[in-house]
Amino acid sequence: MTVKAEMDASADEYTTYAPSGETCPMCMKPIKSLERVRRGTLERPSAAPVVIYRHVACLKVAR
Ligand SMILES: [Zn+2]
Repeated sequence: MTVKAEMDASADEYTTYAPSGETCPMCMKPIKSLERVRRGTLERPSAAPVVIYRHVACLKVAR
C-alpha cells in the first residue's frame, strides 16, 4: 500500500473537510463532519486511484 501524497506534496493534496462516512486510514476512526482532514490519493496498480482523507493530527504524528 503506497500513499503517494506522503512522498511528494502533489498539487491534488490539500486540507479540506471529508464527506460523511469517510474513515481515516491512519487511526482507523471515522472522520467527523467538521474535522479538518488532508485529502490525498492512494494509487493502486490495477485500478483507478482512490481518494483518501486523513486527520491533520494523524499526519503530524506520522512525520
Ligand atoms: Zn486519523
